[in-house]
Amino acid sequence: MVADKAADSTKDESNKLDVLSSTRTVVKNALERLGYPDEVFELLKEPIRMMTVRIPVRMDDGSIKIFTGYRAQHNDAVGPTKGGVRFHPDVTEKEVKALSIWMSLKAGIVDLPYGGGKGGIICDPREMSFRELEGLSRGYVRAISQIVGPNKDIPAPDVFTNSQIMAWMMDEYSRIDEFNSPGFITGKPIVLGGSHGRESATAKGVTIVINEAAKKKGIDVKGARVVVQGFGNAGSFLSKFLHDAGAKVVGISDAYGALHDPDGLDIDYLLDRRDSFGTVTKLFNNTISNKELLELDCDILVPAAVENQITEDNAHNIKASIVVEAANGPTTLEATKILTERGILLVPDVLSSAGGVTVSYFEWVQNNQGYYWPEEEIAEKLETIMVKSFNAIYNTAQTRRVDMRLAAYMVGVRKMAEAARFRGWV
Ligand code: NAD
Repeated sequence: MVADKAADSTKDESNKLDVLSSTRTVVKNALERLGYPDEVFELLKEPIRMMTVRIPVRMDDGSIKIFTGYRAQHNDAVGPTKGGVRFHPDVTEKEVKALSIWMSLKAGIVDLPYGGGKGGIICDPREMSFRELEGLSRGYVRAISQIVGPNKDIPAPDVFTNSQIMAWMMDEYSRIDEFNSPGFITGKPIVLGGSHGRESATAKGVTIVINEAAKKKGIDVKGARVVVQGFGNAGSFLSKFLHDAGAKVVGISDAYGALHDPDGLDIDYLLDRRDSFGTVTKLFNNTISNKELLELDCDILVPAAVENQITEDNAHNIKASIVVEAANGPTTLEATKILTERGILLVPDVLSSAGGVTVSYFEWVQNNQGYYWPEEEIAEKLETIMVKSFNAIYNTAQTRRVDMRLAAYMVGVRKMAEAARFRGWV
């Protein structure tokens, strides 16, 4: 049997910046400002349900490897929980919990009938074969099958998971449920009930938010210099949309390094060459580091990779006028304060990356109806929701004199708190 370094990963948790406690700090602050009593925070500071599973997978060399996975359901007062599944070596229990709280906030911000959920498996899919990944995906669904379902908790893609993995998971759930259950999961291939526009939805939502933020700052997106960290689902589509809109994408990166060209990178070429894990920089010799990338001269910076990238160590060196968080949790609270004090417009993750869950909701509605909408209808509905949500949060920040993150949490937490109150929970 292969040793599972992941199972003993608690030591890694202490090295990570604690995204769960910083999320709780802002949730508490938001609830206090809205006048909710302490018990509402006590309810919302943790997921109502958290499952840890061990998943045996037969590897290609014949050995059995045991993987550790999680599924967190933050709060189901509003409706079923919803959120992606992450396959990554750095997944921790705390991270999954924080991600589930962020999903609740996103659902509140874009006004979906959901609470937040999130899943994760400690693994490195870049080192696994297709067959091993299928075994892991199916094993995860078997392990969590009792607490998920189209009306309970609906998974979706996240870091290092994609429509193929969603397809295997949907197929496994349909076998357990003994029905074809497309509404069990979103982010599926179109032929299995996926929605038009879902693959690029997160990036589309970020693009809409960038346009709104640029208007507030008097910046023309056409000709603006943009840096995007991460070249996966969110980062690569975003680079393409901004490039097509006439922006100059001067920097991009992946987990292995970053590329910089002050005259603008050839995004179409890079898109052609990236692999399914969003890796492209390995093909080049003249790379810079992710750290250097974040500090490049630019107008708009979009972290679209992983957590804790902008911290108090580099926040003073950020040159952008607008920072839009496409990734979940890329900026620490200390850095949020520094950027806001420096007059940089920081658009928080729970708002800017909500396009993904919004189109996932459209996918789920289409699955429930068995009636599918054209791409233009989805794009139009998404635009309306994102513009409205951006302006609600921007106006809250202005009128309540708080930063955009706190404003977003105030808008996002309200629906959940009200639903819990009406149900008589608090
Ligand atoms: P992805 O797996 O498609 O791509 C991730 C990218 O980040 C890749 O280019 C990878 O090389 C890079 N990366 C990984 N580790 C890195 C590191 N340590 N430093 C720098 N780069 C690193 O993932 P994605 O779906 O694009 O997700 C990216 C972020 O966006 C995540 O925070 C995710 O939670 C968030 N997000 C995604 C969606 C979605 O629908 N996919 C929705 C909302 C939020």
